[in-house]
Amino acid sequence: MSDPMMLLRQAQLKVTQPRLEILRRFMAEDHPHQSAEHIYQSFLKSNHPIALATVYRVLEQLTQAGLLKRHYFDGKVALFELNQHSQHVHLICSQCGEVIEFEDDIISTRLAQIAASYQLNIVDQAVYIYGECNRSQEV
Ligand SMILES: [Zn+2]
Ligand SMILES: [Zn+2]
Repeated sequence: MSDPMMLLRQAQLKVTQPRLEILRRFMAEDHPHQSAEHIYQSFLKSNHPIALATVYRVLEQLTQAGLLKRHYFDGKVALFELNQHSQHVHLICSQCGEVIEFEDDIISTRLAQIAASYQLNIVDQAVYIYGECNRSQEV
């Protein structure tokens, strides 16, 4: 995984503490999709909390710079993830909000073929599949 300082420089963003810390959150967490609120809460427990408004602003800047990607899995709360891994499909439990992601060459190739057949030049793509996970069905 790249160094967050390098990523900021490559994106021509000034290296500031909040930008660094927030990027690190996305690199360190095993859960790759995080909301502004979640990030804010995780900083509250640390030694250097960051104001919620700053978290929102930095997430916006990092998204504009192409370092993060924004999703609205539930149609309401934006979740962000690092924008550097290849295309993947998101499976979303509409009950508990769990997000699982996977990559599949056949799906990626097929989507590219379909887009090409409509003469669409893909600049961005997202595949979301909604359902209910086993755990949510039990309760
Ligand atoms: Zn669930
Ligand atoms: Zn993802």
